[in-house]
Amino acid sequence: MEQAKKTAAYRVVADSGGSRVFRFYCDISGELCCVTKPIRADTEEAALEIAWETEGRWEFNHCPQCGKYVSSAMFNVNAGLCLDCAPWEDEYPSFCHHCGARLREPDACFCPTCGAKLIADGMDRKEGTP
Ligand SMILES: [Zn+2]
Ligand SMILES: [Zn+2]
Repeated sequence: MEQAKKTAAYRVVADSGGSRVFRFYCDISGELCCVTKPIRADTEEAALEIAWETEGRWEFNHCPQCGKYVSSAMFNVNAGLCLDCAPWEDEYPSFCHHCGARLREPDACFCPTCGAKLIADGMDRKEGTP
């Protein structure tokens, strides 16, 4: 069987009533993007399919190049690719690389959500160039 990635990263929580709740995470930032309603199905696979088709996938963007499922903060809408494949280059980051939150102030130095420093000294240049 093909091991193609069908859903974003997820965790499943089963309750005592036999239902499962799925939590879907962005493949890049790890941000929690979707928590489904409790889903009843015979197997975890079946429940996952329902969870993904009815709720999870609508919260994600699928990168056609690498196959990752990412939140809208981690998706370059101009290129139609995830930020791993098509990083924002000339613009100031419009999202926090740490928690994935969208940034309101374009020249903020710290993320208003998690407080991460957004631009370290020299980090705004391309890394790895001698
Ligand atoms: Zn990609
Ligand atoms: Zn943040």
